[in-house]
Amino acid sequence: ATSSGPLLALDKARKTFGGLVAVDDVSFNVGHAETVALIGPNGAGKSTLFNLITGVRRASSGRVSFDSASIERLSPQMIARRGIARTFQHVRLVPELSVLENVALGAHTRGHAGVASAVLRLDRAEERRLFAHAARRLERVGLAKEMFRPAGHLSLGQMRLVEVARALCLDPRLLLLDEPAAGLRAAEKKALAKLLRELKGEGMSILVVEHDVDFVMGLADRIVVLDFGKKIAEGLPQEIRVNPLVIEAYLGG
Ligand code: ADP
Ligand code: MG
Repeated sequence: ATSSGPLLALDKARKTFGGLVAVDDVSFNVGHAETVALIGPNGAGKSTLFNLITGVRRASSGRVSFDSASIERLSPQMIARRGIARTFQHVRLVPELSVLENVALGAHTRGHAGVASAVLRLDRAEERRLFAHAARRLERVGLAKEMFRPAGHLSLGQMRLVEVARALCLDPRLLLLDEPAAGLRAAEKKALAKLLRELKGEGMSILVVEHDVDFVMGLADRIVVLDFGKKIAEGLPQEIRVNPLVIEAYLGG
C-alpha cells in the first residue's frame, strides 16, 4: 500500500526510564524517498528513538505510524515485516561465521532466534535462495569479494557495510542507520554516502543517526536535532548549520 502522507510519522513519542525522560514528546516525519538525519549529543535519545520505531522498546506515550498505520504496539518482527530495517550502533556480527552467513542468517532470524536452529529449519532449496539473496545484497554494498571470509577479519568499515547488507535483505521501505559512518575511513565514508544516495534514488526512505556533520550535511534532505530527549530544531542542512540552538547544544560554536 502507498499513501500520499509521510512514510513514517512520530507524534509526541515519549520514552521514560524510571525518572529519566529519554525521548520527550518528539514529533517529526520521514517522507517517501527522503533522507532524514537525526543528530544530537551523546545521550540525546537517538538510539532510544530507533528502538521505539522498531518496536524494541514500547513508547510510554505518543504514536508511531508507518504508512498511515499505528505500529507502536507491534512486535519487532511484525514491524520488520512491514518494511522497516535497521542497523545497530554497535556492530552485531558473529566473527567466526563467514560474511555471507552473517548476512543470510541475520536476515533470516533478524537476530532473535538461534542461528543453528534457523539453519536446521530450512530445506536445501530455501537455504540456497536465502544465500543467493544475501549475496546480491553484499554485491550491492561492494563486499562481494569478502563474502567467504570470516566476518571477524573485516575492517570496522566493512563490518558496518555488512550490517547494511543484512538490513537490505528485508527489502525495506525505511532504513534506519545508527551511526553507520563511525570509525570509517574517508574512502569508506564516501562509498557509504554513494550507496545511500543510490538507495534513496530507488525510492527508499532513510533515517540516519550520525555524528559526522560533514557526512550528514552532504546526505540529508532534512535534519532533526535532539538534545536531552527533546527536538530542539528541524530544517534543511543549511538552516541547521547556522541555527544558534544547534550550535550551542551540538556543533560547539
Ligand atoms: P543517544 O543514542 O542519543 O546517545 P540513547 O538513546 O542511547 O542516546 O540514550 C538516551 C538516554 O536514555 C541516556 O540518558 C541513556 O542513559 C538513557 N537510556 C537509554 N537506554 C536506557 C535503558 N535501557 N535504561 C535506562 N536508561 C536508558
Ligand atoms: Mg546512540
